[in-house]
Amino acid sequence: IALPAVRFASVVRHFGAVRAVDGVDLSIAPGEFFAMLGPSGSGKTTCLRLIAGFEQPDAGHIEIFGETVEGLPPYRRAVNTVFQDYALFPHLSVGDNVAYGLRVRGIGRADRDRMAREALAMVKLSGMETRRPAQLSGGQRQRVALARALVVRPKVLLLDEPLGALDLKLREEMQSELKGLQRALGLTFVFVTHDQSEALSMADRVAVFNEGRIVQVGPPEEVYERPATRFVARFVGSANVLEAREAQALGGPARPSSLRPEKIALLAPGAPVPEGAALVEARVTDVSYQGPVRRVSVLTGEGLALTAAIPATAAGAMVGATVRLAVPRDAVRSME
Ligand code: ADP
Ligand code: MG
Repeated sequence: IALPAVRFASVVRHFGAVRAVDGVDLSIAPGEFFAMLGPSGSGKTTCLRLIAGFEQPDAGHIEIFGETVEGLPPYRRAVNTVFQDYALFPHLSVGDNVAYGLRVRGIGRADRDRMAREALAMVKLSGMETRRPAQLSGGQRQRVALARALVVRPKVLLLDEPLGALDLKLREEMQSELKGLQRALGLTFVFVTHDQSEALSMADRVAVFNEGRIVQVGPPEEVYERPATRFVARFVGSANVLEAREAQALGGPARPSSLRPEKIALLAPGAPVPEGAALVEARVTDVSYQGPVRRVSVLTGEGLALTAAIPATAAGAMVGATVRLAVPRDAVRSME
């Protein structure tokens, strides 16, 4: 079994009374695309800074490829960081920005230029060597920051909300490019984001952070399909959160449970209830059109409020109408 690329054992980092990282255990496999997902202030950046060596743990233990990194300065670690704000040097050309880390490491001019050219080709910026950062678009600056981090050939690349400043279209393009680059290079990526769809679509595994702790870690499908807590159910996608009594009434376990809106089907009048599903009759309180789906909020006679996401092409439910909904029993998933 290969050594983990990054391992945390009970890592703690406090700032005064703020428990930024409050006992984190994790193990990231070599070549893995690992996403750290969580709301602002949940400790993601502090975890990256602990890996990079810009912060020291107050307690616990960190290893990179089996090597204890206590006391190792950032430049001695086999990692490099792409910062949220890119942190390019405005007075240096693109080529010199990319070659900077090589110069610091004492690599000669000819090799520097060649390696910088190769790194720029990797991020599709060939021929941009002599430009200044100010002469580039936001997306191009982001690529320069990526080339600058890759040029020193780190084994682990740390990316702190690298796409946060880009508009949606460019962001989606960069998501698939980054993913392609990671696959092609076989590098370990630790990718921080507060955007759940970004984490789900890019990562091999997602760690969900809340208040300095990892509340769930697993492949995207598992985190989405089986949220471990209310927090995860609500932060990753949207969910109906059910009390034990409500879950049981829908044929689920007598435990607090989650139910994803798209699992609920709208039954045509007179249509039979599918096998393994509970029938819910309810009054529509709100309908919101969202392109591919309509979100339909309903209230049952027992006072249970649910939201269903139904295909927008399905015959519309109208506010005030009574509808029949089918809730598959196995879509009611228990959680803590
Ligand atoms: P995230 O990246 O998930 O938004 P951070 O790791 O940046 O979260 O921050 C976690 C918590 O630690 C926040 O409450 C933040 O204000 C606090 N924090 C982070 N760095 C420092 C610091 N250098 N000094 C004091 N508090 C800090
Ligand atoms: Mg952050």
